[in-house]
Amino acid sequence: MKPDYPYHVNLHEHRLVYELLKRKLRTAIVQKVITRLRAKDLRHIFYTLHREKPQPGQIPSLEMMTQTRESFLYMAVFASIYRCAHRGDFKANMDIEAVMFAWDYFCETFPGHIRERRPFGRIRPANFDEAWVIAEAMQTGLVELQYCFRCHHNFLVTYCTRYQPVCQVCALKSKNKRGI
Ligand SMILES: [Zn+2]
Repeated sequence: MKPDYPYHVNLHEHRLVYELLKRKLRTAIVQKVITRLRAKDLRHIFYTLHREKPQPGQIPSLEMMTQTRESFLYMAVFASIYRCAHRGDFKANMDIEAVMFAWDYFCETFPGHIRERRPFGRIRPANFDEAWVIAEAMQTGLVELQYCFRCHHNFLVTYCTRYQPVCQVCALKSKNKRGI
């Protein structure tokens, strides 16, 4: 980082880079947040922290995350935690501290669920990249949390999926009742 930046700014950014890379956020995403660091530097820090290279490939998509109905239920849990932890208006900006808090809390709730490589399970977000994508989509409106007056749960809606924008808790219940 450039030495002419104030000490406290450098310190804050270094801490943030550490916190994001510790959770294995893709260096391509980290670079969007901390623009003063080169991709090469980020990859080096990632390697120093994990003794492995960062994952190559595409940034995860909502479509990939919503292949099963059950995934919606877990994503709604994550989205609810993030929405509660956000210190302002989650549609106005992303609260990075809140994303990290929500992800850590989610991991405590579902221990051992993290998947960095295929095959991915039904518990989504399966890694911090996916958690980031969900939080970002909540800001842009691609993901919405709605309240179901039938089962009294929050449910997650996204239009980037083959599933109808309905409460998947109720949809699963009626599917099980019909025995299909
Ligand atoms: Zn419902």
